[in-house]
Amino acid sequence: MTTIRLVQGDITQQSADAIVNAANSSLYGGGGVDGAIHRGGGPAILEACRALRASHYGKGLPTGQAVATTAGDLDATWVIHTVGPVWSSTEDRSEQLASCYRESLRVADELGARTVAFPAISTGVFRWPMDDAARIAVETVRNTPTAVEEVRFVLFDDRAYEAFVRQLG
Ligand code: ADP
Repeated sequence: MTTIRLVQGDITQQSADAIVNAANSSLYGGGGVDGAIHRGGGPAILEACRALRASHYGKGLPTGQAVATTAGDLDATWVIHTVGPVWSSTEDRSEQLASCYRESLRVADELGARTVAFPAISTGVFRWPMDDAARIAVETVRNTPTAVEEVRFVLFDDRAYEAFVRQLG
C-alpha cells in the first residue's frame, strides 16, 4: 500500500530515497525544478547526465520516460529524471504525463527506493493547468502497482498545494 503525502516547499530540501526531477529532454538542466536540483545536487548530477547522453540516451530522454542518476549532494540516494509533455490545447498529451509518474515509479522499484518525492511535473515552464495535472498525478500514482511505500508530492506554492489537496479528497 502506497501512502500519498503532500508537502509545500522546495523539493531540493527534501529527504527521500529518490527525488524526481521535471527534466528537459537534453538532461543538461534548465529552469524550475531542474535548475534547483542541479544547483542543490552539485556537478555530480550533470556529470552522470552527460554519461547518459554519451551512452543510452544519445538523442536525449524522450517525453514520458524516466532514468536515474546519483543525487549528488541532495539528501537522497537517487534523482529520477523524467520529461513531462508541454501542455497543448489541441492535442491530448495526458497519457504522456501519466507515463512520467508510472515510469518514475518503475525506475524507483528497480532501484529499491521506498520513499519518492515528486514535483508537479509539467505545471511550470510546460504550462499544464494545475488542477488537471494534479488529477493525473494522483490518479496515476493510485493506479500504479509499486513497492514504493511513500509518494510525497512537493508543491512549490499555495496554488499547487491546494490543487493536490482537492484531488486527494
Ligand atoms: P516543467 O518544465 O515540467 O513544467 P518546472 O520545473 O518548470 O517543470 O515546474 C514544475 C512545477 O514545479 C511548477 O509547479 C513549479 O512551480 C514547481 N517548482 C519550481 N521549483 C521548484 C522547487 N524547487 N521545488 C518544488 N517545486 C518547484
